[in-house]
Amino acid sequence: MPTFLSSPDMGSSKEIVMSGIRPTGFLHLGNYFGAIRNYVKMQEDYECYFMVADLHSLTTHPDTKELKSHVHRVLAENIACGLDPDKVSLYCQSQVHQTCELYLYLNMLAYKGELEKTATFKEKVRLSPDNVNAGLLTYPVLQAADILLHRATYVPVGKDQEQHLEMARNFAKRFNHRYGEVFPEPVAFNFSNELIKVPSLDGSGKMSKSENQMSTLYLSDDDEIIQKKVMKAWTDSGPASRDSVKPPYIENLFLLMKLVSAGEVHNHYEKAFNDCTIRYGDMKKQLAADMVNFIAPIRERVNEILNNEKYLQSVMETGAEKARKSGEKTMKLVRKAIGLNYY
Ligand code: AMP
Repeated sequence: MPTFLSSPDMGSSKEIVMSGIRPTGFLHLGNYFGAIRNYVKMQEDYECYFMVADLHSLTTHPDTKELKSHVHRVLAENIACGLDPDKVSLYCQSQVHQTCELYLYLNMLAYKGELEKTATFKEKVRLSPDNVNAGLLTYPVLQAADILLHRATYVPVGKDQEQHLEMARNFAKRFNHRYGEVFPEPVAFNFSNELIKVPSLDGSGKMSKSENQMSTLYLSDDDEIIQKKVMKAWTDSGPASRDSVKPPYIENLFLLMKLVSAGEVHNHYEKAFNDCTIRYGDMKKQLAADMVNFIAPIRERVNEILNNEKYLQSVMETGAEKARKSGEKTMKLVRKAIGLNYY
């Protein structure tokens, strides 16, 4: 284990957790199971920093007309899912200016070639060839700055973030090697022991804020639309022989059922699949009902919270203050390690 420089009053001895969600649309089951569910569990035992990543959203969403309402919604959705702003620091990325300073230093340790090879960069270039800006290229550097700013060790994220976390570790290692040990090497985290990718209902890709909207279940969907989306999910006439391998679109339904239904319900349909008695219409009806039970209370709490703008503002202010304090402690170490202390 490397030893880390400690600041004069690091305060808490708990391990540090950091993660963020971009305000680019309504949150969905992928965000919940990949990220937020872990945040809620971790808030009890760790020192947690969770943010709305508004600066990241500018790399792909230059039009900011909806930004404020999306920032409020992401905050409200996090709180409605069980995040307690008194236990964690829940803040907005742009309100913690130390992040941008660290981003600048880390940019000197990131190489153009490795950034160009990042899978998410290549995908975004494919989707928006007319907006290949430098912010998009250096997205993993800003993400590393978000994490390293709090010297976090655990980062609860979905499977799509694995490569970014590896890059954050590389930047931390390079910094430590060049200037002396300041940063721990952060690892991606999920309570289920493996990182999760919640698939879309049509079996093509993952649930997403902006793509596959009719195949993505949002935390804001009403009961009727949830039922409609689940009942439309692709199935077939059922397995032809016992203990068959499930095709991917059927595997997806089982995965979603595992996430929101009771264990015995999931087992019942597993058994029915294996002995070829399964009726997918019944399975989807059950899944739709369980999904409604899961999403409806969250949706209702979100609407209540969104009506209280003053409360959201105070959450953001308090969260940013805690995050700036933590960030400034790290930046003192960083500036000193680099040699930017002239007095
Ligand atoms: P984003 O929506 O890209 O800002 O991601 C916010 C968090 O949700 C990140 O930790 C992602 O890894 C996670 N996430 C997004 N979509 C999914 C998905 N379909 N399955 C699992 N995790 C996801």
